[in-house]
Amino acid sequence: MNKITIAIDGFSSTGKSTVAKQLAKYLGYAYIDSGAMYRAVTWFAMKQNIINKEKFDVDSLVSHLDDIHISFIFNKEVGFAEVYLNDENIEKEIRTLEVSNFVSKVAEVSEVRKLLVKQQQKLGKGKGVVMDGRDIGTVVFPDAELKLFMTASAETRAERRFEELTEKGDTVSYDAVLKNVQERDYIDSHREDSPLIKADDAIEIDNSNLSLEEQFNLILELANNALEENA
Ligand code: C5P
Repeated sequence: MNKITIAIDGFSSTGKSTVAKQLAKYLGYAYIDSGAMYRAVTWFAMKQNIINKEKFDVDSLVSHLDDIHISFIFNKEVGFAEVYLNDENIEKEIRTLEVSNFVSKVAEVSEVRKLLVKQQQKLGKGKGVVMDGRDIGTVVFPDAELKLFMTASAETRAERRFEELTEKGDTVSYDAVLKNVQERDYIDSHREDSPLIKADDAIEIDNSNLSLEEQFNLILELANNALEENA
């Protein structure tokens, strides 16, 4: 069967993973959340006290990279693959604001990026994959048949993330979430290695005023067009 690679990049909390999951389910493709891999490395660094509010020992993290084994295991109950660090399910642990506050610093480290990009390319080797992140269309799969670049205003994104965290029972303030979204946007798009930029051939989608259904229909049409072109 004709299979393509779909790369979805964009700023924090633009709803990339929601639409990527929907699309993967619809097409029968694998969904891979590359951000979860950077979050898993961050979680490891936090547990080992390599990163905290006072310090970030980059050399120590780099020397521990061989101890970090990330895998994805499909959970039928939730309908997507959850992330494991050294055989421990850390899907919930990596979604906190605390991890979000450190992750962009960890993602600046070239050695970390090199390791994760290699794993991501391996996971997507057979095509039939939807991967979301920051550098998927530019670095991980520059030849992806469909590249999307998602945007929305920082306030819209912070509101969505705030609701998501509050629903899960996290006590966070809207201002702290907005600050995190803005800080991550800045670090992600200004770092030296693989900054967040729109690939020349990516289609930009501003979903500030789109319902989930409208967004899905639009993206499904783009995916069907890409499939037809690739046939
Ligand atoms: O997608 P998510 O918001 O979970 O990603 C968390 C962080 O991981 C991003 O803010 C970014 O710093 C980093 N990241 C990255 N490259 C990717 C995916 C995520 O640098 N492909």
